Amino acid sequence: MFDKVLIANRGEIALRVLRACKEMGIATVAVHSQVDRDLKHVRLADEAVCIGPNPSPQSYLNIPAIISAMEITDSVAVHPGYGFLAENADFAEQVQKSGFTFIGPDADVIRLMGDKVSAIAAMKKAGVPTVPGSDGPLPANGERCLEIGRKVGYPVIIKAAAGGGGRGMRVVHTEAALLNAISVTKSEAKAAFGDDTVYMEKFLQNPRHVEIQVMSDGQGNAIHLGDRDCSLQRRHQKVLEEAPAPGIPDKVRQDVYEACVQACIEIGYRGAGTFEFLYEDERFYFIEMNTRIQVEHPVSEMVTGVDLIKEQIRVCAGEKLSLKQEDIVIRGHSFECRINAEDPKTFFPSPGKVNNFHAPGGLGVRVDSHLYSGYSVPPNYDSMIAKVITHAQTREAALARMRVALSELIVDGIKTNIPLQVDLVNDAAFAQGGVNIHYLEKKLGL
Ligand code: ADP
Repeated sequence: MFDKVLIANRGEIALRVLRACKEMGIATVAVHSQVDRDLKHVRLADEAVCIGPNPSPQSYLNIPAIISAMEITDSVAVHPGYGFLAENADFAEQVQKSGFTFIGPDADVIRLMGDKVSAIAAMKKAGVPTVPGSDGPLPANGERCLEIGRKVGYPVIIKAAAGGGGRGMRVVHTEAALLNAISVTKSEAKAAFGDDTVYMEKFLQNPRHVEIQVMSDGQGNAIHLGDRDCSLQRRHQKVLEEAPAPGIPDKVRQDVYEACVQACIEIGYRGAGTFEFLYEDERFYFIEMNTRIQVEHPVSEMVTGVDLIKEQIRVCAGEKLSLKQEDIVIRGHSFECRINAEDPKTFFPSPGKVNNFHAPGGLGVRVDSHLYSGYSVPPNYDSMIAKVITHAQTREAALARMRVALSELIVDGIKTNIPLQVDLVNDAAFAQGGVNIHYLEKKLGL
């Protein structure tokens, strides 16, 4: 096992990783920007290193500074959390070249999954169901593109191979609009990602977002840890998640689980990962793989009882997977509400000092947050300040528990989206289960 792990992240996930390391007897190093020296995990870590000024490119994305911090602290491995450098293949490669371990898959696997065209091809080969489409990059020849469009059938979506974060996508409803849409998406992709490769998929009209959690040791062993429904989104940002996804026939879900596990083995995947799907009319369609731990991992932890971060660290330290598929039993239901420092009406970020923070508690209530009374939320980073997670034997009971938990939560001094979350957990259609990815924006009148 690793002696010392450097945590290359901030906020709640840095604290989550720190806690796992401490429980495992691993020494911890926090790295932080200037404004972040008062973060909770920085205070709790064995050592802390300031790696630069507040803008992320100069600190949390500053690869030489992070590798230098590993050197001076004698860290042996780095946990990237999510966001920042978590899916940066160059970072993973440089960590390895410097003689350290990146807690995640190999750089070439990150690269394979980072390019959506190659990711889809690899998934198809492994038997994972994908969205009907161009099966590769769109050719330069316009006539050929029109033919592909006819074959796929409108509406279609043009997507950048290098796209991410909901950027580099365009829906096309008619053949007349296709060629222009391709050329605009290409130039946007070139400007944003330095790669103008685009591909085409059938545009699914009312899908849900359902994803599968996997863990794999890169030594031929892989398991799935069930699914999550993350359909409640605003501008492709997830707002409220749950596990398991409600109302999916058992056979349909088992088939996709098996395909994901098979894909992990085929690509030599190591660590925690998520296969993201659109789900419509009882069918799964792969859209992308995230080669890291995700924000919403706690709902899977609650229903499986598995500590995903610890298991991730173990397999990345070279240990064999400690769990077999039959050890994974889904018990009950779990919800997660993301609490953001933002105006609940305009969604503008609302940084500032939290005068008073009070977290809910009790049986089946978990709060992952770096907040404390007197902490100032800086304006420089993501606005998520807490995750409230509940677990109970049934979906109904877990939702009732969330209503109570939210009613106890106090974040005083800044604006938050708690009112929106309260609204959602009291929403009749959501309580029924199975709303699609457009539901929240429609409810908000967007
Ligand atoms: P990103 O990496 O930018 O998040 P994704 O490929 O994961 O891009 O797609 C982001 C979102 O865009 C999906 O969650 C879904 O809402 C929408 N989307 C992507 N592909 C399709 C599709 N073929 N049909 C309908 N919606 C899609």
